[in-house]
This record gives sequence, structure tokens and C-alpha cells, in this order.
Amino acid sequence: MPLFQYLRRKWIARKPFPDSWKKVLEQKVPVWRRLPSAYREVLQQHIPIIIAEKNFEGCAGLDLTEEMKVIITAYACVPILEETANYYEDLQAILVYPDSYVAPVMEYNEGGVVTEGFEPRSGEYWGTGNIVLAWSEIEKTLQGEASGQNLIYHEFSHLLDDRYGLTSGVSDEGEIMREDEWTRTLAKAYRKHLSNMRGNRRSVLDEYGATSPAEFFSVASEAFFESADELFREMPDLYRILKDFYGLDPISWKG
Ligand SMILES: [Zn+2]
Repeated sequence: MPLFQYLRRKWIARKPFPDSWKKVLEQKVPVWRRLPSAYREVLQQHIPIIIAEKNFEGCAGLDLTEEMKVIITAYACVPILEETANYYEDLQAILVYPDSYVAPVMEYNEGGVVTEGFEPRSGEYWGTGNIVLAWSEIEKTLQGEASGQNLIYHEFSHLLDDRYGLTSGVSDEGEIMREDEWTRTLAKAYRKHLSNMRGNRRSVLDEYGATSPAEFFSVASEAFFESADELFREMPDLYRILKDFYGLDPISWKG
């Protein structure tokens, strides 16, 4: 880490956490109320650093307020509560749209034919270190209307997957391409999810997780933080490897 960055973080850490931000956490961020007090402390150390170091941009006319930044950053910091040194160093910018937005897509078919089109998105992670979020989706989570979905956990877990290659050992059909316990357990849970969705069976995991192992990991991370008890009941082994990976046990978070 460059010396100036180290000193800047120390300088930020010495400043008191703004009262107005504390109020946002207490009044608007549901996970804040569940977090054990030690983790609330950690969150208050992380949030000012992320806000100072990352480039936040409101897009398509969105006036991105300080309150929105605090809310996004609070959720982004939950997965890294036990990983204090890094602060998503591979993340450059967080782009926020007011609503779901229409993104250009390109598909490469067999024979290399490119089909171009547009599709509505509520969020995206670009491998180049940018995360795109639709504010309207985040609001649903804040108001408890997202039935366990959380776009911020979803996109930030893509970033972690990309960095560590977490899902690179599993094929889209759920075959294992790497022999280790993490990959075996993840692949087994993914195959179970594929079969649940094909059989129209209820699951705590959103059906979007059946798209690919990468989407499965992000959907599972959402459930891990938002619906920990249900995920543990439905897929205890998946819960266990996520608990090991994040170093966190959200079942025990009762405030
Ligand atoms: Zn995704």
C-alpha cells in the first residue's frame, strides 16, 4: 500500500463518524439493527474509507445523495466485515441509476455470429472494476419488499468471485472441474438448485441462481446474509462453506 494511502486511512479513522451518517444507518439500513455491536464498530471504520476512496456516480439524471452513498457502502461492507485490510481495492467506481436500465448486450453464437440487442438490468458487475446498481431495487430491500434479495450483496459478491475464482471450478451444468472441498460442495448445491428449479420446487434461493455457477454464488450470498436461517435449513453445507469463506455467521446476528 502506498504510504500516502496508509496515512490517509489512519487520518480518516481518527475522525469521528458523522452523526448524520449514524442516523441513516439506524433509520434506513435494516441490517444495522441485526449486527452485533462489535461489527457496528467495524462498519463505522470501513464506511468513511470506502466513501473517500471510491468513485460514486449518479447516472441518467440521478442525484446521488450522501445518504444513498452511506446506505450502499454499509451493505457493501457487510461481506468484508472480517476482511479488514482490502476495502475492495479492485473496485474503481459505483454507478447508480434511478431505475432498472437498458443495457446493450452482445452474444456470440456458434460460428462467431454476434447478436446485438438490449436487455433490462437492475445491476451489473463489470470485470473492469465497476459496479452498476439501480436505486429502485435497493429501495425494495430497505423497505423489506425484496423477499430476501439484495442487489448490493449480489454485485459485490460477483467482484469477490471474480477476484478469487470461486466459481471457476464448476461448469454451467454443475460438473466439477477442480477437486477441492469448496468446489465439490458448491457444485453439489448448484446441481440441487438446478433440479429444484426444473421441478418447480420452492427454494430460499432465487431462480436466477440457476443461470450459471457465478449467478448461483451471488444469489446464495444474498440468501446467506438476508435469509440465513432458511438457507441453513435448506442447504446446510452451502451455508457452511459461505460461513467459512466470509468468516461470518449471520444466523447469530440478532442485534
Ligand atoms: Zn449477477
